[in-house]
Amino acid sequence: MSVIALDFDGVIADFNSRALSVIYSQYKMSLSSDDISSWEFSNLLGLNISDTKRFTDELFQSLEWVSPILGALTGISLLAERHQLILATNRTEKELTKAWLSEYGIDNLFESQIFLALGDKMPNVDFLVDDSPKKLARLSPFVRERLILFSQPHNRGCLDVLHRFHRISNLDELTGGLLWYYKT
Ligand SMILES: [Mg+2]
Repeated sequence: MSVIALDFDGVIADFNSRALSVIYSQYKMSLSSDDISSWEFSNLLGLNISDTKRFTDELFQSLEWVSPILGALTGISLLAERHQLILATNRTEKELTKAWLSEYGIDNLFESQIFLALGDKMPNVDFLVDDSPKKLARLSPFVRERLILFSQPHNRGCLDVLHRFHRISNLDELTGGLLWYYKT
């Protein structure tokens, strides 16, 4: 059994779809997920600080239009049968996040839910799955076996010069022999 920490946005929940809907509601621009090539929204959208704040305030205030990422629900159910799962997110909207997990019937599959930005301490884990190279690098001291980068348009450009990440594009990929391969 391994201890696996999973990020929320971009690994379990397709938060890109919310970004697309907020971009449409504020700027009437129809984009695709591939266009979200960065989560630095001032750079991505060409906005000043106050416009960026208006955008991110609306972005994070709700999980409307946010579906599970393809394969996430089955992947999590299968992983939970054999491993200890932990949610490790930087989100600050705790109740909203818990309600979403409960709505999709996966809240009970997590041993604990860690809200890092709210002061929760990151526990030691065997694997950490995240779509942010920056967060993976920051939390690497807590990860015993392998940092797993979940592919998203915004991390496609990551060069991983230290060869620290194993890249996946679906949580199903973890249910095969991958964890066994890395587990020492
Ligand atoms: Mg994320």
